[in-house]
Amino acid sequence: MKRTLIKIEGIVQGVGFRPFVYNLANYMNLAGHVLNHGKGVEIEIQGPEKSVDAFAQRVMNEAPPMAHIIKLEEVSIELKSTRGFSIEKSMGEGEKSALIAPDSDVCKQCIRELFDPQNRRYRYPFISCTDCGPRYSIITDIPYDRPNTTMGRFSMCSECRAEYESPQNRRFHAQPIGCHSCGPRLTYRDSNFKPASYTDPLEATMIQLKRGHVVAIKGIGGYHLAVNALDEKAVHRLRELKKRDEKPFAVMFPSYGALIPFIMENDTVRSLLESHSRPIILVEKKYSRLMKSASPRNRYIGAMLPYTPLHHLIMSDAFLGAMIMTSANNSDEPIVFKDEDALEKLGGVADAFLTHDREIHTREDDSIERPMSHGSVVLRRSRGYAPVPIMLNREYPSILAVGGDLKNTFCLIKGSKAFLSQHIGDLKHKSVYEALGETIERFMRLLDIKEVEAVAHDMHPDYMSSHWASEQKMAPTVAVQHHHAHMVSLMAETHQEGEAIGIIFDGTGYGEDGGIWGGEFLVGGINGYQRMGSVSPVPLPGGDKAIQEPWRVALAILGGIYGPNIPRMPLSWLIELSEDTKNNILKMATNRLNSPLSHGMGRMFDAASALVGIRSKITFEGQAALELEMALENPVEEGYPMGVVENDGLPILDFYPVFQALVEDVIREKPTEFIAARFHQAVVQGAATVAMRLKKQTGLDRVFLSGGVFQNRYVSDRLGQRLREDGFTVFRHRRVPPNDGGIALGQALIAGQRILAGKEK
Ligand code: ZN
Ligand code: ZN
Ligand code: FE
Repeated sequence: MKRTLIKIEGIVQGVGFRPFVYNLANYMNLAGHVLNHGKGVEIEIQGPEKSVDAFAQRVMNEAPPMAHIIKLEEVSIELKSTRGFSIEKSMGEGEKSALIAPDSDVCKQCIRELFDPQNRRYRYPFISCTDCGPRYSIITDIPYDRPNTTMGRFSMCSECRAEYESPQNRRFHAQPIGCHSCGPRLTYRDSNFKPASYTDPLEATMIQLKRGHVVAIKGIGGYHLAVNALDEKAVHRLRELKKRDEKPFAVMFPSYGALIPFIMENDTVRSLLESHSRPIILVEKKYSRLMKSASPRNRYIGAMLPYTPLHHLIMSDAFLGAMIMTSANNSDEPIVFKDEDALEKLGGVADAFLTHDREIHTREDDSIERPMSHGSVVLRRSRGYAPVPIMLNREYPSILAVGGDLKNTFCLIKGSKAFLSQHIGDLKHKSVYEALGETIERFMRLLDIKEVEAVAHDMHPDYMSSHWASEQKMAPTVAVQHHHAHMVSLMAETHQEGEAIGIIFDGTGYGEDGGIWGGEFLVGGINGYQRMGSVSPVPLPGGDKAIQEPWRVALAILGGIYGPNIPRMPLSWLIELSEDTKNNILKMATNRLNSPLSHGMGRMFDAASALVGIRSKITFEGQAALELEMALENPVEEGYPMGVVENDGLPILDFYPVFQALVEDVIREKPTEFIAARFHQAVVQGAATVAMRLKKQTGLDRVFLSGGVFQNRYVSDRLGQRLREDGFTVFRHRRVPPNDGGIALGQALIAGQRILAGKEK
C-alpha cells in the first residue's frame, strides 16, 4: 500500500479537473481526495503501489480537454485510514493564483445534445459543460466562480442546479451552465437595434442571410459581420459598407468536409481547424479565383470552423455552404463587443443583429495561424490562446511590457510565467489606445498582480505604447530595442538561453542610432546584443507616405541604379507618373529631403512588389509584400545576385544588384511568378551567407528567425532549410507571433533580466 500527494499546476480549475480525478479514482478503486488549492489542484491518493503509480500517469495522459498541466509533482506521504474518494472544499486564498482557461469550442457531447430532439437542451444556443465553452471572455474576477462571471445574473433552475452540484455529472461546477428556461437567450434585432417580433431569432437571421444581407452576430469575444460567402454580390456589398477594400475576410465553413472543394486536402490543416482554440487557418485555395471577393489577389483563404453552439445552429442550415465571419468594427478599430456600442458602430453596415444577453467581459478577436513546414505559426494570438502563459526558465520580478504600436499586445510576467495578452490592435486609433489601458487593468486583476517593478516599452520615442509607458505611474520604465525584443521573444518561446545569432527581418523598428532598422543580424541574448550586420538602406521619399505608397521607394531605387534616365518599364504606375512628380521624388531621394533611410527588410519586399507591377499603393499593412509572395508559385534554385559588402567591418546585404537584375527581367517581360521567386530566393541566399559568416566569426550555431517577414512562408521555410543544411540549429516561432504581436514578451524578459542583474550586483 502507498499514499501519494500529487500537486498539479496549470490550467486545472474550472475545466472539470476535480470530477475527472474523482471518477478516475473511483474507477480504479483508490481512496483519498482532491481539492482546488494554491496554484492548482492537490490530490491525495492511496491504494496498491502499482495502481497509485498508474493513477498519476493517467491523470497526466487523460486530463480533460480544456486542462493544461504545466507541472505535476509526486511526494510519498504516510498512509491514512480513510476510505473512498471525495472532492473536498477548496483551500481559500490560494486559489487566487490559479490560471484562467482560454475560451474553447463547444465539445462533441454538447453538440450531440444540441441536435438531439429528446434532450432538454435541444437547439439551446448556449449549451456548454466543464469541457467546453467560454471562460476568459466571461470572467470578471477571480476566483473563477459563477458570481465572478457574466453568468452571475442568471440563476440556475432546479434541473441545472442538480447537474451543477453532482460530481458525477459532466456539468459539475460548469460555470456557464444554463438551459432554455434559466440561461441566456437570443434576440433578433432590426437595423436600428430594435428587438423584432419574430417568433424565432434564428429563423429571422437565416432569412436575412438568404437575402444576401449582412447580420451582426454576437459571439464569444465580440460581434462578427456575417454574410453568405458564396454570394459574391453580398460579399462585395459588405466590402463596400465596411470600406475594407482588399483585406481578406475570414470564412466559416460548416465542417472540414465542406471546405474540401475549395482547398487541397490536407490532414494538418484539418487538425488545426478542429483544435479547441478554433483559430482562423490560412489555407491554400484550390484555384486562386475561388472566393474572389473574400480574399482578392490571394492564393489563401482564412478558414475556420464553427466554435459556438450558435455557429453550429446557423451553419447546419443546408443553404449556407460558407459564411463570411469578419470582426465587426470600423476599419481598424477594435472589435465591437458591447451591446450598447453595436448600433452606433455597426448601424451603417449591419442589416440586422443576432444578439444575446450573456455579456462579453473581455474583448477578443479570432486568432490566426498559418501552417508552415516547421509547424503552424500563430500570426494573431487571441481567442483560444490568451491567457495561457509561456513558461520561463526561471523566476522574474513582476514586469509589464506594453509591446509595439502595430498589432499591439502586452505582456505581464509573474514569477516564472509570462502572460502575453490577446491581440489589442493598432494603437494609432484612439479607441485601441484606450483599450490597451483597460485590458492591462483587467489582466492585472485576473492575474492578481498589484504592482510591477518595471514597465518595458519600445525604444521608439514616438510610439503610442512608449507614450503610455511614460504616462503611467506604476513603475520606472525600461526602453528596449525593437529587434532585440523580437529575438528574445523567440528565445523565451523556445526556452533558450545564452548567446546566439538572430536574423530579424521586419518592416520598421527604431534603432539605437535613431535610424530605421529592420533587416538585422544580431548576436546576443537576453542580457544584451550587438548589431553584427544589416541591409543597405533605401530612402523613403516622403517618410511614412512611402510605406503607404511603395512606388516611391521603387522610384528612389530606380534613381539610385540608373540616375535620372530611368529605363522604360511596363509598369502602369511609372507610365502614369508625371515628369514633375517623378523628378521631384528623385530629387527628394538623392538630396535626402524628407527621405529617411530605412534598413527595413519589409521595404525591400514592398519595392520589389511595385517594380514587378503587383502593388504600388497599399490599403493595409504588409499588403505589397504579401501580394508579392502570393505571386510566387514554385521555388527557384538561383536567386538574383545579392551583394554582400562590408561597412565598418560588418556585413551588409546590398540589394542594388538584386533590383538591377529584377528590373532587367521586368523589362524583358519575364513571368511575374518567376521574378517573385528569384527575389525571394535572393533574400534567402543573402541571409544564409551572412549567417554563415557570423557562425565562423563567433562559433555560435543557434539561429533565431523573427520579425514580420517570417510570416512569409517561402522565406521561413527556405531559409530555415538552408540554415539547417549549413549546420545551424534553427529556431522559429510557433505560439508567439513573429510579427510585432510578439515583441511584448521579449521586452518583458529583457527588462526582467536587467532588474535581476541589478539586484545581483
Ligand atoms: Zn461541452
Ligand atoms: Zn436551467
Ligand atoms: Fe517588428
